[in-house]
Amino acid sequence: MTIKWYPGHMSKAREQIKELLRKIDVIIEVLDARLPYSSSNHLLEELRRDKPCIKVLNKNDLADPVVTQLWVNHFQKTSGVRALPLSAKHLPQVKQVVKVCKNLVPNRGNNPGYPIRAMVCGIPNVGKSTLINTLAGKSIAKVGDKPAITVTTQQIDLRNGILIFDTPGILWPVMSNQTGAYRLATSGAIGANALDYTNVGMFAVEFMMRRYPELLKERYRLAELPEAPHESIEAIGRCLGCLVSGGVVDVNRAAEAFLRELRAAKIGRVSFEEPATAAVQDPNLLLSSTLEF
Ligand code: GDP
Repeated sequence: MTIKWYPGHMSKAREQIKELLRKIDVIIEVLDARLPYSSSNHLLEELRRDKPCIKVLNKNDLADPVVTQLWVNHFQKTSGVRALPLSAKHLPQVKQVVKVCKNLVPNRGNNPGYPIRAMVCGIPNVGKSTLINTLAGKSIAKVGDKPAITVTTQQIDLRNGILIFDTPGILWPVMSNQTGAYRLATSGAIGANALDYTNVGMFAVEFMMRRYPELLKERYRLAELPEAPHESIEAIGRCLGCLVSGGVVDVNRAAEAFLRELRAAKIGRVSFEEPATAAVQDPNLLLSSTLEF
């Protein structure tokens, strides 16, 4: 299977971000806490140089808390960057971002006319708009459950010494790491019309069987897990009533329903990658399908 997903404004966003970096004091990089490696833009790391940065591990309410702590330690140890796990919908947690910004840029933000200029960035669908809306206390940035909805650059004065530049999310046009592409597809970061649910669902269920078997068994009332991923999808499909006439499971519908449940943490709080192994490619994927963005 080949997924093609490259909205035209992405390359323009790269130029905008380069331009904006010159004008800002701190970067608020929004990552998906369930996949902080695969949802990061490696280009940003290269563009930002030593500009102060906060990594927001958003959607923490969906992620495995033990693994999230590993990520916080990892970022601190490898780059000295503070990572903040939070839910962008939760104001008390989001207020931490303001606090850390003020610590990182102590020479601005106290005198009127000299606000801390912060840039919020990240790939589509990680929750940038939600974060900005919560920070601003009203609905300014558009929020959608479909990727790539934030398309224009705006400035938002938080009136607390911080000026936010909102930018379109950037995502690399071609994924070099196939495992990362599949994790992104599993998390919902890819436009639905570019997705083959069966293929991605198979990847996701195989991962869950390996990493969180007990959660699967509990959610779908399975005494034992089947050996093969397609058998698991069928068992899940039966449990969720994704059947066609004759009691046969509609595998594509079952995979879609499973992914929807997984993304909403109905099965439990799950992380798709850990620091020690995030960059390692799954050898099985190299032999099967290729996702292309
Ligand atoms: P953007 O494309 O990066 O601006 O992402 P959005 O702010 O539009 O959010 C994408 C989707 O993720 C929306 O459906 C949000 O409601 C959802 N979302 C954002 N933040 C969180 C969070 O902390 N937890 C959960 N569970 N969902 C979130």
